[in-house]
Amino acid sequence: MADFSSSASPAQGPLVSWSRWLGWFAPGPCPSCAAPGRAPLCAACRTGSGIIDGSLPAVAVLENDVRLLYLGFYWRPSASNARRREPTPLAQALHRFKFGGDRYAGHCLARLFAEALSNSAAAPGRAGAKRYDAVVPIPLSRAGLAARRFNQSAWLARPLARRARIPYRPGWLQRHGDSEAQHGLRAAARRTNMHHAFRAGLLPQRPGLVLLVDDVCTTGSTLAAAARVLCDGGAVAVGAAVLILAEANPMGDRR
Ligand SMILES: [Zn+2]
Repeated sequence: MADFSSSASPAQGPLVSWSRWLGWFAPGPCPSCAAPGRAPLCAACRTGSGIIDGSLPAVAVLENDVRLLYLGFYWRPSASNARRREPTPLAQALHRFKFGGDRYAGHCLARLFAEALSNSAAAPGRAGAKRYDAVVPIPLSRAGLAARRFNQSAWLARPLARRARIPYRPGWLQRHGDSEAQHGLRAAARRTNMHHAFRAGLLPQRPGLVLLVDDVCTTGSTLAAAARVLCDGGAVAVGAAVLILAEANPMGDRR
């Protein structure tokens, strides 16, 4: 796999990514395996990530009646050891973007996500027969945003909203500063951590039908907590779309 990390730091600004941004129009390489001309993700990496026909399958409804759509999976069985599992190419591309600051990978993932949602049976911009009224990314805490300098969920949500012609409303949901990052926490701790993580932002009187966007769904507790705040604020219903599903049954730990 090619190493993009040398051009990856967000502190280096957008200039280092010009060649890759040009590749965006060329098209550029696959952001995961670097196969030339295969942006936004090559066929082998799509297959290896469990992406089906470029559309987003629905999974079980989460807490608060949130219907979840996802593009691909986080884990796949290891080719060398059947008892181990390894991140899919999609997860590896997300890591480069999220933790390495690889903006080219971020653009590829955002494009892949927007195309998939508009190809999906649930899209463009539809929940059942109704149209979503707003796309809302899961916000980072102020400290999290200061550390990363970008919100990966917003990177996914904004192009999707533009493509589906749904208003993009990142200000509707805010995160309390003291909610920790979720990765590394066990399921029960995630739910506790998320319980008071969000508050309503500049919500209109009738928010309508809202589509939440996040990069990864593990237990579903983040999306459920965000949906609760939006429903308490008057949303008719909330749907969710994520790039990657980390567990086959996100609410399976509720038993
Ligand atoms: Zn690839």
